[in-house]
Amino acid sequence: MVRKNASTLLTDETATKFQVFTRANITKTPEWERLPEEIRESVMTVSTVLPFRVNRYVMDELIDWNNVPADPMFQLTFPQRGMLSEEHYERMLPLVRGDAPKAEIDEAANQIRLELNPHPAGQLTHNVPTVDGEEIPGVQHKYRETALFFPSSGQTCHAYCTFCFRWAQFVGMNDLKFASREASQMRRYLEAHPEITDVLITGGDPMVMKAKVFAAIVDEIIKVETVRTVRIGTKSVAYWPHRFVTDADADEMLQQFERIAEAGKHVAIMGHYNHPVELSTDIAEEAVRRIRSAGGNIRMQSPIIRHINDDPRAWAQLWRRGTQLGCIPYYMFVERDTGAQRYFELPLVRAWEIFREAYQRLPGTARTVRGPSMSCFPGKCHILGVTEVGGQKAFILEYLQARDPSLVRQPFFAKYDETATWYDDLKPLTERDAKFFSYPEPAGGVGLTVDREEVSVESN
Ligand code: SF4
Repeated sequence: MVRKNASTLLTDETATKFQVFTRANITKTPEWERLPEEIRESVMTVSTVLPFRVNRYVMDELIDWNNVPADPMFQLTFPQRGMLSEEHYERMLPLVRGDAPKAEIDEAANQIRLELNPHPAGQLTHNVPTVDGEEIPGVQHKYRETALFFPSSGQTCHAYCTFCFRWAQFVGMNDLKFASREASQMRRYLEAHPEITDVLITGGDPMVMKAKVFAAIVDEIIKVETVRTVRIGTKSVAYWPHRFVTDADADEMLQQFERIAEAGKHVAIMGHYNHPVELSTDIAEEAVRRIRSAGGNIRMQSPIIRHINDDPRAWAQLWRRGTQLGCIPYYMFVERDTGAQRYFELPLVRAWEIFREAYQRLPGTARTVRGPSMSCFPGKCHILGVTEVGGQKAFILEYLQARDPSLVRQPFFAKYDETATWYDDLKPLTERDAKFFSYPEPAGGVGLTVDREEVSVESN
């Protein structure tokens, strides 16, 4: 793999032009020719059901084609056969092989999608906040001090992550019900809720927006005095760092960060980095430098994902390199219960072991990171470890964030289960622990079920 340095990228038109590939045109690339037939067939089959989008930078600079299919960035962006169950795969394969009409493929794909829990934790069914009786569909308000804003023009990404829990949005199963066109509506909501100090602008990836469109959002947010931190969830720092370096409106975008900072607010870039290779190019480093000089503080976060980053050395390398560049290691999340979760999930105990092994390799300055953490219905459930209580093996847990703030930072226990991969698999160890597993159904404007920080915004 030839690495290009930033100065080459600044002058090399091919390298700075954003070129995207999907199921429709990936077959025209030279890389496609290099793939064995069975991999090609699985990409074409799985991508009828799950979204697929990659770009030239990821293909040229991040994927090591000599290491395909095991390469982490190939696993991260190209659909894999194991992402569908055998039964689902066998249902789609004859249609793909037989070049069935699009309508027939779509119908079969939609049936399968509905079996993949496309809207985990009822994200479409819970409350949309209101102001004066008017719904504010682009806003979610889960925790007292944080609101999430989903601008409608930021609901796609520079490439798609195979594990994304927002996958349903990218295949048209969720018509962006919570995407708002009106930043002014969001401002009204923030003004009506002075307890909100943090706004998270998320997607998709809000950095796919033109700087001018983003500026209109900034215009509104900076008017709200009670907002102290503006978080921007983005994966573009990894998938398209050119957004902050060579794009035609890169400077204009960075000026928006400066405007937020000049308004006295903290600019928190929630940088979605899954693997250290994403920080290995000159352009990725340059993006970090430019964001920081514009007043942005980059926090690094990612889920732990089998086939991609289930390796303590990879995490330690990512966090150490990030810290060296001035980023702040922030969260290791647990993969959510949707889509191809079966392919990507790890037992919780393994996630904890990997976190611990990686953490042990870090200098104190990088030990800002927390995890593994599950963004589940009651809050952010942090796995602190495994211990014995009264002769019984147990997980030690705590909420880092919770709908019920009184639960935060109180250690509690769940029965040890070496196969558990998600919060719903856990059971309270004793009666005293039961309250941490029961929670009221949401009521009123606060109570949406999805915390999307882990993706783009998370993004995750
Ligand atoms: S995880 Fe984030 S960057 Fe990746 S596809 Fe999903 S929303 Fe986009």
